[in-house]
Amino acid sequence: MFVAELTFSCRHAPTDETFEAVEGLLAVLYKNGQVVTRIWPVTSEGALLRAVVLTPAEDALESRHHNRYVLGELARLDEQGLAPPTVNSLGPERLSLPECSCGDWRAGLLLYTDFLSLEPPVRCLDCFHPVALYRLPRPESGEHLGLLGWQTDYQACDTLQMHTMTGERFGERQLGQLQSALSRHGRGIASTLSEAMSVPVYYYLHRSRARSLRAELSRLCPGCGAAWRLTSPLHERFDFRCERCALLSNIACSVRHRLVETIDF
Ligand SMILES: [Zn+2]
Ligand SMILES: [Zn+2]
Repeated sequence: MFVAELTFSCRHAPTDETFEAVEGLLAVLYKNGQVVTRIWPVTSEGALLRAVVLTPAEDALESRHHNRYVLGELARLDEQGLAPPTVNSLGPERLSLPECSCGDWRAGLLLYTDFLSLEPPVRCLDCFHPVALYRLPRPESGEHLGLLGWQTDYQACDTLQMHTMTGERFGERQLGQLQSALSRHGRGIASTLSEAMSVPVYYYLHRSRARSLRAELSRLCPGCGAAWRLTSPLHERFDFRCERCALLSNIACSVRHRLVETIDF
């Protein structure tokens, strides 16, 4: 992912309305997947306004990726005395993954995020790198509100279970159970995307704990009851995969380290 600075020049001293016009543009860029976080610092210096954003790719802010809402907000800038922004790339963001550069996604995609992840919530199943949302078919609304809402909810639940102080078990159940509200929402989005793209779109059920390693190793697919354990982990984290149900999961974190010990000795 990349950091970019957008500079807007204003024909008069900036007012609250001027800032709101810039923030309105940033919000629609986020909903179109051209900007990947909901926090975008905006500063002013005389008649210049600057916004710093994180983008999924270096070319993410080019006009060929705009949707009708971005075009609408760009047209409205003029009403507030603002020129269209100039974009300056500040380079790659150090801790996040570059976007997927696979030619197609025949192997499939998956919905994936975690409490610290800055990347877009869709990954390529081949390389596990993120896919910019504007590359995906847009829902009827024209914006990726479903995926972004799922990502926010998933990160909230993952934060609960990682911090262990409030709602830990609630968070675990939402991430790990097939029938949780979070999983049903995510699987619905995955299924719609899969139909629109004619590629499998997987959903990951994160498993935190299990009673024993033995029971965990013989766990069956919660969707269809079939055996689904992989002979070797996919992307070092997925130990189970059911193609029929488009599900992935891991050997529970509480016992997975024992598996590594078993292999080592
Ligand atoms: Zn890829
Ligand atoms: Zn299954």
